[in-house]
Amino acid sequence: MKKNIFSKTLLLLASAVILISCSQSVDEIKVYSGRHYRSDEDLFRKFTEKTGIKVNLIKADSDQLINRLALEGENSPADLFITADAGRIGQAVEQGLLQPVKTKFIEQNVPKNLRDPDDYWVGLTKRARVIVYHLDRVDPAELTTFEDLILPKWKGKVLVRSSQSHYNQTLMASMVAAGGYEQTLEWAKGLVNNMAQPPKGNDRDQVKAVAAGVGDLAIVNTYYMGLLLRSANEEERQVAGQMGIFFPNQDDRGAHINVSAIGLTASSKNKENAILLMEFLLEKESQEMLAGENFEYPVNPDAKWPDLLVEWGEFKEDTVNLTSLGNYLPEAMKIFNEAGWN
Ligand code: FE
Repeated sequence: MKKNIFSKTLLLLASAVILISCSQSVDEIKVYSGRHYRSDEDLFRKFTEKTGIKVNLIKADSDQLINRLALEGENSPADLFITADAGRIGQAVEQGLLQPVKTKFIEQNVPKNLRDPDDYWVGLTKRARVIVYHLDRVDPAELTTFEDLILPKWKGKVLVRSSQSHYNQTLMASMVAAGGYEQTLEWAKGLVNNMAQPPKGNDRDQVKAVAAGVGDLAIVNTYYMGLLLRSANEEERQVAGQMGIFFPNQDDRGAHINVSAIGLTASSKNKENAILLMEFLLEKESQEMLAGENFEYPVNPDAKWPDLLVEWGEFKEDTVNLTSLGNYLPEAMKIFNEAGWN
C-alpha cells in the first residue's frame, strides 16, 4: 500500500516535471553558438520582440560545442547549432548531430552552394580569407595567389595567426582539396619559412603588426578589416587605413570563402520554432543587419551590401563543396604539425 502511494506520488511528480519542461520548450529556443559577434545577439533580441519566442544563447568554442552535443546525445537541450566555420559544420554533420531542414523559404533565399547538399545546414553569412597588404610597401601587382606567398620575395614579410585558428585550418583544408597533401605540405613549409614572426594573436593583431612594420602582408578574414576601418577606436581606423585588400587566386579557383552556418540539432525538441528562427536570420533585413554590423557578406542575394563591401568589389570564389572541407581537416592538422606552423 505504502509503495503504491509512493509510486503514485512519483508519477504525479514526473508528470509535473514533464509539464514544466513542455511549457518551457514552447516559447524558448536553445542555441549553441561558436560565433562571437554582437550582431547576433541584436538579431536574437529582434526575433524575440517579433515572435515572443525567447532565445537562450550558449556561446563557446565550436569544437567544445560539438563535443557537448555528442556527449548530450538525444538529451541535448540544444535546438540549433551555429558555427563560424564550414569545417566544423561539416564535422557536426558527419557525427550525426544535425538533422535536415528543407523549406521553400530557405531554398528561395540561399544559393545552393551556400547550403548543405543534403540540407543538414544552411549558410548564415559568408567571408573571404584574403591578403591584406601595406599600401606603401607592397605593389598589389606583385600579388597573385596564396600559393605564391612562399616566393623568396616575401621572405620575412608574411603575418598569419596560429594553426589553432579554425579559419586557418579550413583554409588549409581547402588547399588540400585543391592541390593534394604533398603539394600543400610543401606550401606550408614555405609559408613558415616566409613568416615575419612565429604566429601569435588574432586576425586583427596581424593587421596591426603590418602597420607596426613587423611584416608587409597578412592573411585575414575580410570582415575584420571592416571592423577595424569602422572601429570606434581611432588608432584602429588609422591602422586599417594603411592597408589594401587583395582577393587571391582570382585567375584560378577563386578566393577561399568560409561560411558561418546554422543547423537544426538532431535532438531538437522545438523544431518548428527553431526553423522559424533559422528563417528569420536569413530574411533580407536580418542579413543586411549582419552585413552592416559585422561586415560579413550576406548569403541572401536580395540583401544589400554595406558601402564598404561594395567598395571592395565583387570577386571570384572558390566553389569547393564546403561540407567536404571537414573531411580534409585531419590532413590539414597533420600538415601544420609537419611544417612546424605552431
Ligand atoms: Fe571571427
